[in-house]
Amino acid sequence: MPLKALDIYKLLPRKNCKECGDPTCLTFAMKLASGKGDVDRCPYLDEHAREILGSSTRPPIRLVKVGVGERSFAVGDELVQFRHEKTFYHPPGVMVAVSDLWTKDQIQAVVARVRDTVVVRVGTDLRLNGVAVRHESSDPGAFRRAVEAVEEIADLPEVLMAGDPGVMEQGLAVCGHFRPLIHAATPQNHEAMSDLAKNYGCPLVVKADDPGGLPDLVERCTGRGVQNLVLDPATTSLHRFQNISTAIRQQAVTRSTPSLGYPVFLDAAATGMQDAAIVTGILRFASVMVVENPDQASLLSLLTLRQNIYTDPQKPIQMTPGIYRVGTPGPDSPVLMTVNFSLTFFTLQGYLEATRIPCFMVIVDTEGLSVLTAVASGKLNETMVAESLKKFSLEKEVTHRSLIIPGYAAPLSGRIEEATGWEVLVGPRDAAEIGEYLEKEWKR
Ligand code: SF4
Repeated sequence: MPLKALDIYKLLPRKNCKECGDPTCLTFAMKLASGKGDVDRCPYLDEHAREILGSSTRPPIRLVKVGVGERSFAVGDELVQFRHEKTFYHPPGVMVAVSDLWTKDQIQAVVARVRDTVVVRVGTDLRLNGVAVRHESSDPGAFRRAVEAVEEIADLPEVLMAGDPGVMEQGLAVCGHFRPLIHAATPQNHEAMSDLAKNYGCPLVVKADDPGGLPDLVERCTGRGVQNLVLDPATTSLHRFQNISTAIRQQAVTRSTPSLGYPVFLDAAATGMQDAAIVTGILRFASVMVVENPDQASLLSLLTLRQNIYTDPQKPIQMTPGIYRVGTPGPDSPVLMTVNFSLTFFTLQGYLEATRIPCFMVIVDTEGLSVLTAVASGKLNETMVAESLKKFSLEKEVTHRSLIIPGYAAPLSGRIEEATGWEVLVGPRDAAEIGEYLEKEWKR
């Protein structure tokens, strides 16, 4: 059972010395109780307290970092089984596979795509995470050259995939100090792979064909000094992956099997149904996924799904309230009011840009709720609109006094007119119709 903050506090030295980075022992205790603290940050804990706290306050799924620098990413450190209970924090790293059977040009074409692809959605840059180098040739030197080809043009996190520790060492000799993920330690090679992971300070994937063998293998690897592990249930069946991964997550977050408290690996490309595997992986707790270079449609779908699942359901992505300009609007330009839910904002902004009619967007603070929800819950009301117009000094921007409100806010139109003194025009419900609306109603 996880300890409560007060119980943890009683076990701390209570010096309030701040060496742990927290202002008081109590705030440190609260952090530990929420599974977000690290016991090792208090240097004054005795062994007994460390033992008790270590097992009951450690995050149920270990945080594992892959790569170094700007594009590095972290996985794990999740607290719940279901997204609606809290949120999921660390989206899965998507690693695009290259093979040491390929030419340098073929490898670098894929690496350049991973390096340069950016999809902007609701104001966020979405990217692929890195490259997985597969050893498929019979030449250890080819593996080394493939890793060199990756390193030559990009600073991206890597997964090194080779079953032979001797071959793995060839790859590590090139990029071992950039914290690649080593794939994989098996019952046959775990001693040598653990030693490589320890020597290079790299995270290590533990792979067992029988998932029942994972806890034992984990304990063998941690016993050799490797703490940053990722679990590969080694299945190409999506149904089986879903069952195993769900069981691992359940046993990890309930702490019933602490040796399963690690992020999960999925080789989506190996399933033969990559798109379905990616969806399954994102929805069912995969933390690192290896994919073959996805086509543009698959790429957009996976980045969108991943962003949606890893957005806090209790805190929609929000825009800062204020005035936003589309093009270079002047004193006669239309003024459109909407809410600060990012998806609403960016959808409307996109359609407005397409109209090529310069305009002002007034974004009011509905705490990230959509128009319909904000109207229904009273978060969007005439007082708020009136205050926003005043606060953002809109009357200094335009000479007219006409305000276009979203179609779904029509029930508020009369009250907004009274509260603001502005003429209210009710716009379309669907942002896609805004161009036609402006042509017909505004230019009229
Ligand atoms: Fe308290 Fe330990 Fe943090 Fe010092 S380092 S404030 S004693 S928890």
